[in-house]
Amino acid sequence: MPLTRRVRTLAPLFLGLVVLAVMAGMATYRLSLSIGLAELQATGQHRLDLYTASLEREIDKYAYFPATLGLERDVLELLTSPSTPHLVERVNGYLEQLNQRAGTLSIYVLDRHGTVLATSNWRQPDSFMGEDLSYRQYFKDAVESGSGRFFGIGTTKGEPGYYLSSALVRNGVLQGVAVVKVSLEQLEKTWDLVEAPALVADENGVVILASVPAWKFTTLRPLDEETRRHFDSTLQYNRRALLPLGIERISYLSDTASLVQLSRSQTDAASLFPVSGQFLAETHPLPGTAWNLTVFSHREQIDDMARSHAALATVGTAFLFILLVMMNQWRLHQRDRVAAREALQQAYDELERKVQERTADLSATNTRLQEEVAERIRAERTLRSAQDELVQAGKLAVIGQLLAGIAHELNQPLTAMRTLSGNTVKFLQRGDIKTACSNLDRIDQLVDSMGTLTGQLKSFVRKSSGHPRPVIVQKAVDNALSLLDQRLRRMNARRIIDMPEAPLWALCDPNRLEQVLVNLITNALDAMEGLSSPLIEIGAARQGERIRLLVRDHGHGLTDHVRGRLFEAFFTTKDDGGGLGLGLAISAGIVRDFGGTLSGDNHPGGGAVFTMEIPIVPEGEDECSKT
Ligand code: ADP
Repeated sequence: MPLTRRVRTLAPLFLGLVVLAVMAGMATYRLSLSIGLAELQATGQHRLDLYTASLEREIDKYAYFPATLGLERDVLELLTSPSTPHLVERVNGYLEQLNQRAGTLSIYVLDRHGTVLATSNWRQPDSFMGEDLSYRQYFKDAVESGSGRFFGIGTTKGEPGYYLSSALVRNGVLQGVAVVKVSLEQLEKTWDLVEAPALVADENGVVILASVPAWKFTTLRPLDEETRRHFDSTLQYNRRALLPLGIERISYLSDTASLVQLSRSQTDAASLFPVSGQFLAETHPLPGTAWNLTVFSHREQIDDMARSHAALATVGTAFLFILLVMMNQWRLHQRDRVAAREALQQAYDELERKVQERTADLSATNTRLQEEVAERIRAERTLRSAQDELVQAGKLAVIGQLLAGIAHELNQPLTAMRTLSGNTVKFLQRGDIKTACSNLDRIDQLVDSMGTLTGQLKSFVRKSSGHPRPVIVQKAVDNALSLLDQRLRRMNARRIIDMPEAPLWALCDPNRLEQVLVNLITNALDAMEGLSSPLIEIGAARQGERIRLLVRDHGHGLTDHVRGRLFEAFFTTKDDGGGLGLGLAISAGIVRDFGGTLSGDNHPGGGAVFTMEIPIVPEGEDECSKT
């Protein structure tokens, strides 16, 4: 296949492969991401539950702490008689001991107007004995609802803490408020083992607890000026800067889960786990508080996993696609092979059918040909017998032509015999026996010569078989000349015979060779009829495997018209009825039957010359068969 065609075929396939692989990769990435996110969400939820439970447990430890102070008689008495010095001293001492044992930051008792009556830190210089804390939210909450929970930064030492307050009631009348301040570090102890960043934000969105120290006292959402003024007035955060944490929400996955972006900060290096990048943030309200706990799960892992799954899917799909294409190619190849085999089989069957048809045709043709050949043979036989008849007719025609001469030839001895026999009678009557005997001898000779002539005629006229056999050419020439002897003499024609002494053996039929020679010599004499000194020249010689026989006359020769039609049957220029126009046609047929040729032309020296070439008897031919 040419390169351009191959590229044209493969390009859409390659494009399809790329599109499919990319689509598979993208789909797998999305699927893996959503599965990963779901798993991450589940893990985050688990962490959230865990952190919530431990934090709750820690807070609950102090939940009933302030309320139990209402059970202390000294405390209740102090509330009713706040200016009793020894009572103040006793309660201070009690609260100091309690604070030490519980590990809290401070424990103090306020009267119902919010003034500190007794406190665990009464000994210290920053003690808030006698301070008016009625502006504090935990006091207000306790007065209004019996208890309060509040995060705040201490105004005296600026120490952040968790305030738990409880109204101290006697006979249904508010006597005062007991407050316990728990250190945040105390609560954070439970987070020592956290595996992911977590934070607790209060109702204002201010981070009060965080596994990342730098996050503390940042805000989850920007604060407007009014809120800031309010915070300043309540001193809840003791005028801390409260900068935003820098969380950018990307998308919400549910009410409590969302994807967020945490901006990079200097704290990254100090942290045990990544604290910037994309996270799954899951939030849970802390029971019994207005706070929310948020756990951040880094999604880098699931991104990496989704990417590797996508890469795997892309490669796998490409591989599968290539495999399918290859299988398809193989299937097509197999189909082509089967089709080719079927086509081959069909072609073979067709060929077989054609061969059978052709064989049938051939056998029919063969039968027809055989019939035709048989017909030809029959026709040839008929032709040959017709030819034989024709040859015979030709002979008879020659005889007819010779008849006058023969009659004359026979007449002469007959006349001589009549005269001799009459004389012989007279000589016998006279008693001249000797002369009578001499006459009878002469008669005998005449009868012999007549017998020879009639014998030659008989042999000429005889029907011959036509089968070739060894023949002496000189003998055939002699016989032909003797048949025409009377005419030659009558015309006073001279003859020049040029033949070798040794017999020239030709392979032909003697009777028919004579017939040809008689024809040629007769034609030569006809052409010289009326000439004063006609001359006929006959020559024979061996030339290679052939014998060449020439019969030349000195007559008028052949015109172009005659030369072109010489061997045509029934062509004659002898209008006087002397010719049938068959002599040369029959002669040429006879010579052709011998396997030789006969041609006629003008001799350069004048007159016509007829040349006959006939085969010699091959070497080694049985000499006995030569006659
Ligand atoms: P036919 O002798 O009966 O005419 P042939 O076939 O023997 O028939 O000869 C055909 C013709 O060929 C003759 O009529 C004659 O015109 C011509 N021809 C044959 N032999 C000679 C010859 N030796 N010289 C001139 N013309 C010849």
